[in-house]
Amino acid sequence: MYDLIVIGAGPGGYVCAIRAAQLGLKVACVEGRATLGGTCLNVGCIPSKAMLHASHMLHEAEHNFDRMGLTGAAPSVDWTKMQGYKAETVETNTKGIEFLFKKNKIDWLKGWASIEGEGKVKVGDEVHEAKNIVIATGSAPAALKGVDVDNAAGTIVDSTGALELPKIPKTMVVIGAGVIGLELGSVYARLGAKVTVIEYLDTILPGMDAEVQKQFQKVLQKQGLEFILGAAVESAVEKDGSATLRYSPKKGGDAQEITADCVLVATGRRPFVEGLGLDKAGVEMTDRGFVKIDKHWATNVKGLYAIGDCVPGPMLAHKAEDEGMAVAEVIAGKAGHVNYDVIPGVVYTSPEVANVGLTEQAAKDSGRKVKVGKFPFMGNARAKAMFMGDGFVKIVADAETDRILGAHIVGPNAGEMIHEICVAMEFGASAEDVALTCHAHPTTSEAVREAALACGDGAIHV
Ligand code: FAD
Repeated sequence: MYDLIVIGAGPGGYVCAIRAAQLGLKVACVEGRATLGGTCLNVGCIPSKAMLHASHMLHEAEHNFDRMGLTGAAPSVDWTKMQGYKAETVETNTKGIEFLFKKNKIDWLKGWASIEGEGKVKVGDEVHEAKNIVIATGSAPAALKGVDVDNAAGTIVDSTGALELPKIPKTMVVIGAGVIGLELGSVYARLGAKVTVIEYLDTILPGMDAEVQKQFQKVLQKQGLEFILGAAVESAVEKDGSATLRYSPKKGGDAQEITADCVLVATGRRPFVEGLGLDKAGVEMTDRGFVKIDKHWATNVKGLYAIGDCVPGPMLAHKAEDEGMAVAEVIAGKAGHVNYDVIPGVVYTSPEVANVGLTEQAAKDSGRKVKVGKFPFMGNARAKAMFMGDGFVKIVADAETDRILGAHIVGPNAGEMIHEICVAMEFGASAEDVALTCHAHPTTSEAVREAALACGDGAIHV
């Protein structure tokens, strides 16, 4: 009898298993995939970041080396070798989780799990018993009506197929201007594809701060990406290795067509709970198909918890990890906690985009008096030396208390810099607290301090 069986070894599940084992529980983790690490390590965060890194290096060599006096022929792309680099990056990471499982004495139950009643998990022909079960089965790409994905054919693909394309397409249409679509779209744009992004809404990066949306779209357009916003895709038809897409402007007007070597469907993800037998177990679901949980990640069934992408909230690896740690602590009799107000979001393009907390509009809509401090990277020496002057740091603070409510960054290292604001927000800091903190020079983080100064008497370098 286990104290805990975790179903799914993504960042939610494997972190939960490790923390529970560290707290002295006897733990098993079921994973149906051949390797540990879930979507994130196998077909998500990690392979996509390897491709982003490689394509960024190519961009630097093609566009910026010569400007720095680094002359010589720009490298060409060996696609097979680049795919090998990506596969190796994935493998070292998934093997790393295997090592951690062994180190923490966690049993990896290989196969697909179903719940066979209270405390019973079936894997293959065997039924395992546990005092507690955590569902961490993650998510899968959402389907789009009229557009049939065939990753093996490589013409109409989802994010998983886009990481494994047989060759670099000359033309690519990305459906959906969210994080995944823009990240993968910018990879292929840098590798030479002509990329067009079609989005149903009137802005890119739905939900992000309006100024970030506008600035970032300009930056991507400068990099050669084209955008068709406010358009509903109706169908995609594959013929002879290319696809023709039909879409209609939402405002009205004639349907249009666009043809490309590759179509990437990046219209979001849906919770994945297939085959678990949740119906039979009597588990309540939300109307959008997520597992329903309370504040302590407990479902309505005794001893059954759920975390990560299969429960409501942002579909992010670090949110899943935080929930994994917290639910393990709850099960071990401690006080697990996740602060959902301080979960950063990052778009790993170049430049990066990062945000945490409230947008300016959301802060205003909450009825507060709001002040905003903004600082452009054009005023930051380090960013300029890297040819990364596009973008800004924007801090949203409460006008009465000076407490930081949110931050939004478009610029170099945005995904690292945002954590300074996360820590500040965790401590309930004011903009002045950040402004009074000495920041090393020359760093891009100085732009964060300058934005904080701009919430008060003013930034220096503008
Ligand atoms: P998952 O990682 O989806 O893991 C669930 C695991 O459960 C899977 O391995 C699955 O095989 C297994 N499973 C499911 N059902 C069963 C069953 N019945 N029995 C046994 N095993 C089962 N997030 C970020 O924070 N940063 C990023 O940069 C980022 N980039 C991304 C890029 C792409 C292309 C994609 C697709 C996603 C990206 N994400 C990113 C999102 C991130 O991958 C997910 O939020 C995260 O993986 C969710 O973790 P999870 O543990 O909930 O589920």
